[in-house]
Amino acid sequence: MDARGLRPPEGLLFEISRPGRRGAALPPLDVPDAARYDLDARYTRPEVAGLPELSEVEVVRHYTRLSRLNYAIDMGLYPLGSCTMKYNPKVNEKVARLPGFAEAHPHLPEELAQGCLRLMFELERALATICGMDRFTLQPAAGAHGELAGIMMARAYHRDRGNPRQVVLIPDSAHGTNPASAHLAGYRVEEIASNARGCVDLGALRRRMNEEVAVLMLTNPNTLGVFESEIEEIARTIHDRGGLLYMDGANLNAFVGRARPGDMGVDLHHLNLHKTFSTPHGGGGPGAGPVGVKAGLTPYLPVPTVEREGERYRLRHDGPKSIGKVRSFFGNFGMFVRAHAYILAHGPEGLRRMSETAVLNANYIRRKLEDLYHLPYEAPSLHEVVFSDRNLEAAGVHTLDIAKRLMDYGFHPPTIYFPLIVKGALMIEPTESESREELDLFIAAMRAIDAEARRTPELVRTAPHTTPIRRLDEVGAARHPVLRYAPAETRRRPGGA
Ligand SMILES: *Cc1c(COP(=O)(O)O)cnc(C)c1O
Repeated sequence: MDARGLRPPEGLLFEISRPGRRGAALPPLDVPDAARYDLDARYTRPEVAGLPELSEVEVVRHYTRLSRLNYAIDMGLYPLGSCTMKYNPKVNEKVARLPGFAEAHPHLPEELAQGCLRLMFELERALATICGMDRFTLQPAAGAHGELAGIMMARAYHRDRGNPRQVVLIPDSAHGTNPASAHLAGYRVEEIASNARGCVDLGALRRRMNEEVAVLMLTNPNTLGVFESEIEEIARTIHDRGGLLYMDGANLNAFVGRARPGDMGVDLHHLNLHKTFSTPHGGGGPGAGPVGVKAGLTPYLPVPTVEREGERYRLRHDGPKSIGKVRSFFGNFGMFVRAHAYILAHGPEGLRRMSETAVLNANYIRRKLEDLYHLPYEAPSLHEVVFSDRNLEAAGVHTLDIAKRLMDYGFHPPTIYFPLIVKGALMIEPTESESREELDLFIAAMRAIDAEARRTPELVRTAPHTTPIRRLDEVGAARHPVLRYAPAETRRRPGGA
C-alpha cells in the first residue's frame, strides 16, 4: 500500500489547483443564462473567490487516494473498546435506501407517511421488549445526547414531585460523557468508588445515598467490561430513598437477548443503535441514542411520540409534562430503518447468539494474551477486555507505543488510556463480527509486539514505520493547533513520509 513510487504525500486540493482548470467542459450557452437573472445581486459575488481549480480526474483521484488511507470496519478488525465497532451488514444499507424511506420528506402529512410512522412505532416496541422498558424515545442523535435527554426526564420527574434534588452519583468506572450530561442537566456530580472487583462499592453507595440524590448513573456493563453483579441491590438502595436508577446502556451488545435492564430495576436508560444494532458510527454521519423509560416516566418523554389508533399511526405533539423536543423532526430516521432491519433479521435467538459471540470473542483474546499482558481486574470479562502496559514498564514501552505498533501489523489500535481508573489501559473489544482467523491474527500481532518490546524496544517506541504519516507530535498538535489553511511551504509536515 505504501509503494507509491514518485508520488508525493497527498496534498490539499488548494495545492494541486492550477488556474483555469475545470471539472467539466460544456459548449457555450445558446440560450440566456437564467441563473444570472434570477439571483439577487445583493447576495451574490461577481467572482467565486479562492476555490481550487481542478479537472474531474484530479478530484476523483484525490478523494480516492484519501479514502485508501482510511481504516474501516470493511477492511479489518477495529477493536476499539467501549465503541463497539461491529460490522454493518450491507442489507441494512439497501433497505435504508428504499425510495419510500430515503426520500420521505419530514414534513409529509401523516396520511402519506404511514410506513415511516409504522417503522418508528415497531422499532420502539421492539426496543421496549428487548430491554424490558415501557416506552422509548427515538429522538436523541447519539448516546451522550440520550444521556442528556434521560437526565432531563429524571429532573422533570423529581420536579413534578416537588423537588428536582441536587446530586447525580456516578461511579468512577463510568463513561466520560456521563458526568458531562448530568452537569448540563443542572446537577452536581459526585463520584462513587469501585471496589477491588471493579464494581460499584455497595457500602459506599449506602453511606452516600439520601434525598439529595436524584439519580445514580450506572454504566452496565461498566467500562472495565464487567457486569454489575449486585445491580438489584444497587437499584433497591436508590429506590428506597426515592432516587432513580439511570443505566448507560451503550454496551447493551454485551447482554442483549440474555438480560433486560427493565428487569434489573433500571428506571431509564439509553442505548446506542450504532453499537448494538449495527448502524454505522460517525465519520461525521449520524448516530442514534434512543432512551427507554418505565411507566412512571412516560409523561416526560420528548414529543412528538408515535401512537397507533386502530390501523392508523399518528404523531402526538401534546404532552403537558414532556421535556419538549430534543432533536429536529423525529431523530436520525435512516438509522431507525437500519436498526429495525437488523433486529428483524436476527430475531430473539439471533440477538442472543450475537451477544454470546461478542463475549466469547473478548474472552478468547483475554485467554490468549493474559500470560503476557497485565490484567488489572480479575472479574470475568463480558464483551471487552482491559489490559495494561505494566508488564512492559521495565522495557520502557508504553500503551501508546503498542497501539502505534499495531498499525504496522495492519490493525486499528484498541481504545487506549481508558478507562481512567486503569493506568496505561488497553481496552480491546473485538465484537461478534470477527472470525476466529481474524482474532488469531490480532493475537499474533500483540504477542509479536510483546517480544519486540523486550528485544528491540526502540522499534516499538518509534512506531508506526509503514503508515503514510509516522509518529505524530500529539502534544505539539494540542498546544499549537493549525486550524486554517496555509501554503505548503509554510507548513511543517510532522514526521512526514
Ligand atoms: C459510546 C458510549 C457513550 C457515548 O455514545 P456516543 O454515541 O458516542 O455519544 C456513552 N457511554 C458509553 C458506556 C459508551 O460506550
